[in-house]
Amino acid sequence: MTVELISVGTELLLGNIVNTNAAYLSEKCADLGLSCFFQSVVGDNEERLAAVLKTALERSDIVILSGGLGPTEDDLTKEVTAKVMGRKLFMHEPSKKRIAEYFVSRNLELTENNWKQAMMPEGAIVVDNENGTAPGVIIEDGEKRVLLLPGPPNEMIPMFENCMIPYLAGSGLGVIFSQTVKICGIGESKAEMMIKDMIDSQTNPTIATYAKNCEVHLRVTAKAADEKEARKLVKPVIKELKNRFGLYVYTTNTDITLEKAVVDLLVANKLTVSTVESCTGGMLAARLINVSGVSDVYKSGYITYSNKAKRRILGVKKGLLEKKGAVSEEVAKEMAKGAAAISKAEVTVSITGIAGPEGGTEEKPVGLVYIACSVCGKVKVKKYNFKGNRAKIRETAVSSALILMRQCILEYYSEKAFDRK
Ligand code: ATP
Repeated sequence: MTVELISVGTELLLGNIVNTNAAYLSEKCADLGLSCFFQSVVGDNEERLAAVLKTALERSDIVILSGGLGPTEDDLTKEVTAKVMGRKLFMHEPSKKRIAEYFVSRNLELTENNWKQAMMPEGAIVVDNENGTAPGVIIEDGEKRVLLLPGPPNEMIPMFENCMIPYLAGSGLGVIFSQTVKICGIGESKAEMMIKDMIDSQTNPTIATYAKNCEVHLRVTAKAADEKEARKLVKPVIKELKNRFGLYVYTTNTDITLEKAVVDLLVANKLTVSTVESCTGGMLAARLINVSGVSDVYKSGYITYSNKAKRRILGVKKGLLEKKGAVSEEVAKEMAKGAAAISKAEVTVSITGIAGPEGGTEEKPVGLVYIACSVCGKVKVKKYNFKGNRAKIRETAVSSALILMRQCILEYYSEKAFDRK
């Protein structure tokens, strides 16, 4: 089934507000297994809204409109939709009652135009708005479905989650179930190549790939008559993805983040960790400390931005700093070793790099970052050339450090297991 989104509001066209509703709805519709081929933004204008809606109804099964359900004259969505679909508007008494109660309970003055929000197209399903006055509306017309949602995200999102998703799931769509395989340490195009045959032959379940800041998420979605059947379809695909990506898979649980997976790995192996950062200035420590339960493993974090701090706190040799420079493989290594010596943590990670925009040279350009990870004295250093602005480079460095930590811990234990053989 196809879905089309229409975001209504002149503010959106002028760029005064960002269209977060469309981003949210697109993601939710993809989760539901609906294919979204078109999205439009249209101002509060009767003719243009009618034209966009007519086109959408010709080419899509489900049309979702957000915005323009308010009480003022320029809020036209419901009126135009009713006209396009040949429905008269009538006063919906339960909505009228709810609106009156909403105003009384908040001690607000009710004006005549508020009753506009209780007018509903004939034959429509009216959806309560728990967080505002504009009810949502569902209009069924043969095989077509039109859903009207209020514009404010704090009203739209709960209404969509609580009412529209169950409605869509129950209206001949069947049940949709999806599970995500999260991988790290491998790029999106390589990941896609590794499962090209699976993607090319997919029907049900489908596999969608999403690149997310150094990670790739593979979402497997199946449609079936009931959840048990949908899960059954998803299971072998997840198994095959896990087979193909092996240790690159860090979780198949939507709620687990990369930093959580790293902390879990540290906890499982009874390893403590310390971080030492230059260009990321504590961002790696912050991401790790965001994980509840990290106190069992996290020892200390050092921000050694200046050369002096690298020398005084970590014991990096002055000669080495002068000879190789602060952004170098050797210094990254010494930083990780220094942090291990003073904190006594089994795992230490260091980041040193040039985040820009100034400070780059031909030899050492902006984006050059070295990350070192020491696991029980075994140190590995990696060189990276990140692209983007200062914020992007620093963010990517932190994700890469988490990936390197994970890789080094896994390698350390696989080598230990190998040594024992
Ligand atoms: P209201 O009852 O508040 O008038 P409405 O359904 O008429 O609701 P609009 O008047 O179109 O909605 O928008 C109200 C506010 O909701 C906007 O000022 C904006 O803050 C937010 N909003 C509307 N559309 C979007 C959107 N597509 N993405 C993000 N925010 C939005």
